Amino acid sequence: MNIMTWIDLLLFFVLFALFIYIFASVTITNLHKAYLVFHFTMMLWPFCQFAIKTTDDPKFQLFYVKLAFIDSVLLTIGWLLFTVLLTGNSHLLRKKNTLILYILAALILVGVIANPNGSFVLPMNGGYIERYYGPIFWLLIIFLTTSVMISLYIIYSALVSNTTQRIKKQVAHVLKGVLVLTVFILLDVFLNVVLLKSDPVIPGLTSLGILISAIFFVIAIHRDKIFDLVTIAHQDIIDTITEGILVLDDSETVVEINRSLFPKIHLQIGAHFDVSTIAPIEQTSGAFDLFLHTYLNQPMERTEVELFYTSLDAYINITAAPIVVGGIRVGRILTFQDRSELHRLIAETNHQNETLQERNAALTEIQDELSQTNQKLKQMAITDSLTGCYNRHYLTLHLEHEIIENMKLKQPFAIILLDIDFFKTVNDNYGHLIGDVVICSTVEVIKKTLRETDVLARYGGEEFIIYLPNTDQTQANHLAKHIKSIIEANKVHVEDVAHSLSITVSMGLLSISNFAAQYTESLTNQLNDLFESVDKALYQAKNAGRNQIVEINR
Ligand code: GH3
Ligand code: MG
Ligand code: MG
Repeated sequence: MNIMTWIDLLLFFVLFALFIYIFASVTITNLHKAYLVFHFTMMLWPFCQFAIKTTDDPKFQLFYVKLAFIDSVLLTIGWLLFTVLLTGNSHLLRKKNTLILYILAALILVGVIANPNGSFVLPMNGGYIERYYGPIFWLLIIFLTTSVMISLYIIYSALVSNTTQRIKKQVAHVLKGVLVLTVFILLDVFLNVVLLKSDPVIPGLTSLGILISAIFFVIAIHRDKIFDLVTIAHQDIIDTITEGILVLDDSETVVEINRSLFPKIHLQIGAHFDVSTIAPIEQTSGAFDLFLHTYLNQPMERTEVELFYTSLDAYINITAAPIVVGGIRVGRILTFQDRSELHRLIAETNHQNETLQERNAALTEIQDELSQTNQKLKQMAITDSLTGCYNRHYLTLHLEHEIIENMKLKQPFAIILLDIDFFKTVNDNYGHLIGDVVICSTVEVIKKTLRETDVLARYGGEEFIIYLPNTDQTQANHLAKHIKSIIEANKVHVEDVAHSLSITVSMGLLSISNFAAQYTESLTNQLNDLFESVDKALYQAKNAGRNQIVEINR
């Protein structure tokens, strides 16, 4: 063979290497990669079987025989990988024992390639179309059989384990595929190798087995979408989410139960689901009865309930919704969500709210107390402590305001300044305390005669000012006389004093009704002017013999 022939072969290998590189590097799942390797090796076997018969050159025939059996080892390894990945056992691939498998495979491959002293294969009738097999061939058969056994063991483990329905379905297909393949390979070995001398060769048995199982896989892949990334992702999501998911068919048989729910509900796929059993033992609430009623009588309705499970110390929200295809209910999906954290947060918030409300109430109480105290203080600041009438401070403020108003509205008003006559004598004769009683009693009788809007304030020791708003001269005079007379008539009874005491008062009365001669002075000066005038009138009343009223009109 010249160099040009080998260039084509070289190109084939380069292209093949590129093919391997592409599938090794692109982002498809390991399952896809394993299947592609597996499928490629399946294709290679019948090709080699064909190629052996296309040449008379024993060297080429030997090459194809070796290639076919190298392929069978690769096919077995691909098969094993495919099984492992499909059953969701990819963690097994990281274990050291898989290394032993690869080393054994490598040793057998070396044996097949080297074929030392024909211990793998020897020619029959000068060629390899028919051939004698040596011990290395039988080693290879043992290797293949062992690998198939391991595959079957993995499949068996997957079927009995608590894996998902999807994986079980896939595994069932693999089981059928591997059985078809095994039967055909064993048939081929038995008929064409063991019984070689007495029976005619039946060609293509293994190839046929490969083809049937490959067709079987292709159908399975299409029908169950086992390579569909979205389906796989959906399933993985369902298995990893914390909510429990239970899928039932229309006869309430469990078809799917996800991993987070499985340990809590002890239901197997295929078991009958009785909805009444999910109520907590201690539950007697009407909520569950309502849920149960809707569940049983209105299966097309979505219904939900939240229950507390003492055994789990958890609040679980359960929803049941129909699965509807083309208007017909084909099953039901139940979700179980742990709401304990939400309940804990709500309880905590409520508790905090209560505490806040309590604090708020306490604060409001303090605020009320403060405002009352404030009110009292304000009152105290304007009240005379002995008599309870207004003090001079209040009088000044009030009059400042009133003067402006009266001037604006041209309203007449009057001011009375009254002083008890000969009060020193009262103090001297009966003592200061009795003097106080007399002052208070006088204030009481004055208060009784006053109108709502009149203001009585203590101006000095036993001197008082009465402000009479909106009062003309005649009214003021009348009122002053009335006050004077009732004070005179007032008999003050005092403990330890045999007779009652009575006093008289002198009054200065200032009436203002003429606003033509406007004041140009400041408010304080105006006020002082008023006080001076009324004081003068009082002074005159005293001088004139007391117990009388001196009137000034302006
Ligand atoms: P007049 O007729 O001139 O007013 O004679 P008077 O004795 O009343 O003289 P004046 O008004 O000047 O004296 C007031 C007296 O009132 C002086 C003081 O001892 C007494 N006094 C002032 N404030 C009080 C008080 O709060 N209680 C008592 N018990 N006496 C007071
Ligand atoms: Mg006096
Ligand atoms: Mg006085």
